[in-house]
Amino acid sequence: MVRVKGVLDGSIAEELGIVSGTELLTVNGRELKDFLDWEFLTADDELVVEARQPDGEQIVYEIERPDGEALGVELEPPTIRRCANRCEFCFIEGLPKGLRKTLYVRDDDYRLSFAYGNFATLSNMKERDIARILEYRLSPLYISVHATPWEARKVLLNNPRVPNIVEQLTKLAEGGIQFHAQMVIVPGLNDGEVLEQSFCDLWSFGDAALSVAIVPVGLTQFSHLYTGKSMDRDTAESLLQVVDRWADRGRAERGDAWVYGSDELYLLAERPLPPAEYYGDFPQIENGVGAVSSLRARVRDGLSSLPRLEGRRIGVVTGVSMTPLMPELLDELTVATGASFELISVENSLFGPTTTTAGLLVGADIRRALAERHDLDLALIPAECINDSGVFLDDEPFIALREEMSMPVYPSYDFVDVLAHEGEPASEAA
Ligand code: SF4
Repeated sequence: MVRVKGVLDGSIAEELGIVSGTELLTVNGRELKDFLDWEFLTADDELVVEARQPDGEQIVYEIERPDGEALGVELEPPTIRRCANRCEFCFIEGLPKGLRKTLYVRDDDYRLSFAYGNFATLSNMKERDIARILEYRLSPLYISVHATPWEARKVLLNNPRVPNIVEQLTKLAEGGIQFHAQMVIVPGLNDGEVLEQSFCDLWSFGDAALSVAIVPVGLTQFSHLYTGKSMDRDTAESLLQVVDRWADRGRAERGDAWVYGSDELYLLAERPLPPAEYYGDFPQIENGVGAVSSLRARVRDGLSSLPRLEGRRIGVVTGVSMTPLMPELLDELTVATGASFELISVENSLFGPTTTTAGLLVGADIRRALAERHDLDLALIPAECINDSGVFLDDEPFIALREEMSMPVYPSYDFVDVLAHEGEPASEAA
């Protein structure tokens, strides 16, 4: 059963009398377990839908809809499938209370992997889940592989019952499912031979394995390692050498790099980041792979669209890891606009100084950075540190923080998204 959250005005669902709280039970005789069933079983234009209204009345709707017209049903969010692991590097376990609620959810859900690109380990998958992926052709998936050798993976995920990922991926690949893989590298556990074997195994899946991201383990003050070591510069550099070798092979034999080091890995190794072209269509940008190069490219593409902003003093808040990369971009923005930009580098007060990513800054950090800055005309903060509901990781609403500040504060993905509107009259500005 899936429950209706709302229906669109003027939609087929509204005409039928489906309302918020209606329980949808079956479609064409097949039971509905979740949003995937609803999405895929209602693909036909002739439907028989069994439902139960909020007052308990059971109704059968016979629907013939014009080709392609949406039914207009919004479902309640699904119950998230939780992970069965206790990974070496998981930072959720020791989190303090009072943070954004979703931060405590240890989701490991192949449905969200398909729908939203969330990474899933597949450790909680049953045969019926694999069958469902194949039937509905849920592709591509985003899979946290970490290591393909079974014993190494058990240690990394701290789960002796973890299924054999090679067998799982084989079934998926044979069924025509493609996937993006990530490997969080914990030195001593899945670098060296384990990494090499993992690349060989993933490579053997051919076109099914679309890309592989190599991400260094990141430790906050709440996470810990049971058996592995933390990442250092030399290990990051040797990982990148392996990445380079496999990426050369990828370009020669597949036409793309196939394996990518995350931006964090390059920063740790103190190596320059590759140009935007290296990343092709940025298959794992949400995973921090190529995000900086994409930002640079977007800023450069947008410079000519910016208004002149002479005399404006603009503060740009960022995390420690981005700090060395920003002056070059801010110089270009200065030339293009005439404004003066000040880089405000902020340490993460919640996760500790080893967490340097801008997207993990919390509301308290932004407040600390801007509260006394009465000299600024405008402040830009990383948009990634606020969720879709406008809330920071520490459960601070952005809107409340903004009202406290003496200057306008805007979340920004690439500066251009905000600055392009700063020359317009206030009513048209972002
Ligand atoms: S890091 Fe591991 S233990 Fe933590 S939520 Fe993800 S799969 Fe679960």
